[in-house]
Amino acid sequence: MYKCTNCGKKVNIDLKSAKKIICPYCGYRILEKLRPKVAIDVKAV
Ligand SMILES: [Zn+2]
Repeated sequence: MYKCTNCGKKVNIDLKSAKKIICPYCGYRILEKLRPKVAIDVKAV
């Protein structure tokens, strides 16, 4: 899962099948990689 740094849409791209990472919404090529699940535990210990 990636997030377009231009339009902010979340894009699901399979790197094995996709040659390029391009936002399908705006065509921007710089996508920020997101973690597949929110695994960050922010509770204070
Ligand atoms: Zn975009």
